[in-house]
Amino acid sequence: MKELIDKLEKEKKLSKEEFITLIDNRTEDLSEYLFERARVVREILYGKDVYLRGLIELSNYCKNDCYYCGIRKSNLKIERYRLTKEQILECCDIGYTLGYRTFVLQGGEDRYFSQGVMVDIIQSIKQKYSDCAITLSLGEKSYNTYLAYYEAGADRYLLRHETANSYHYSQLHPERLTAEKRKKCLSDLKKIGFQVGTGFMVGSPFQTTETLAEDLAYIYEFQPHMIGIGPFMSHHQTPFADAKNGSMDLTLFMLALLRLMLPHVLLPTTTALSSIDPAGRAKGLLAGANVIMPNLTPSDARNKYSIYDNKITISDDALLNKQSLEDLVNEAGYRIASVRGDARVMK
Ligand code: SAH
Repeated sequence: MKELIDKLEKEKKLSKEEFITLIDNRTEDLSEYLFERARVVREILYGKDVYLRGLIELSNYCKNDCYYCGIRKSNLKIERYRLTKEQILECCDIGYTLGYRTFVLQGGEDRYFSQGVMVDIIQSIKQKYSDCAITLSLGEKSYNTYLAYYEAGADRYLLRHETANSYHYSQLHPERLTAEKRKKCLSDLKKIGFQVGTGFMVGSPFQTTETLAEDLAYIYEFQPHMIGIGPFMSHHQTPFADAKNGSMDLTLFMLALLRLMLPHVLLPTTTALSSIDPAGRAKGLLAGANVIMPNLTPSDARNKYSIYDNKITISDDALLNKQSLEDLVNEAGYRIASVRGDARVMK
């Protein structure tokens, strides 16, 4: 199996069958070897640097009804909120003082945040923090809306493809949402010039090793600048309330495979990972991740952005303590770089 890891490191690519063999035969020993190679590869381009992204959860209103997501339209039990422009700018102020030079505006697909409203928010943030990057994660929009966001100053866009397999996609989403549409949005974003991030949940219902291999193949072909992956976590007010959560093991394994496949990629150690294990964030760094996204959302709103159960909320405040965040990163052998942290390019 180690030969397959060496081959992936060297050639950046494996066949679907090879990925399946590797994933299905993973052991602790093999994982350790993979993580070590992932750390070596991340250091070639990024050294010991870890980038911070301040996450701002704008709104939990959503017109979509994804079966896995706690803020889906059909969940009538949650209290909805949306942040005002002033609140968003305050979050940026706090983040800027903490040394963050990227803000990620994420939310449900809330019609209130129309193209005009978003353009105004993006321009206001850029005016105040011209040295910062803005990342958006607001779901599927038209080409022209993405273009307007880009022209207003947004730099990056995160849109997880969720699963590359169309049938699997249809098992996770209502009919009007399709894998093809999602992928079309991703290629629009890239064409416009955004640094684009995609990704998927690990251990989502009906996922198989084969669909995971298809995710890797799709990502290789798409060549994103960023990849967000984290374990699926069930939410009690969704159709997948009783589904099993994704595992830490497999998530770390996938992170490391992604690092070998795309050495330049910006790879966050996600909130979901630390939600299944408090040590998750550090473990992610040791498996090749190089980005942390502390949550800047005001705490009352943050508790309502409940996309899955047991999302770390209160405990996550620790990350807003500069020292504890620094300790976490340093203990893993890395250091925080207070810069925008754009994707490096392979020479
Ligand atoms: N509305 C935006 C942002 C969605 S939230 C969009 O459509 O892109 C960001 C990500 O959280 C989603 O892409 C999904 O992969 C993840 N997510 C949603 N529900 C989840 C759950 N129950 N467990 C783990 N991750 C989840």
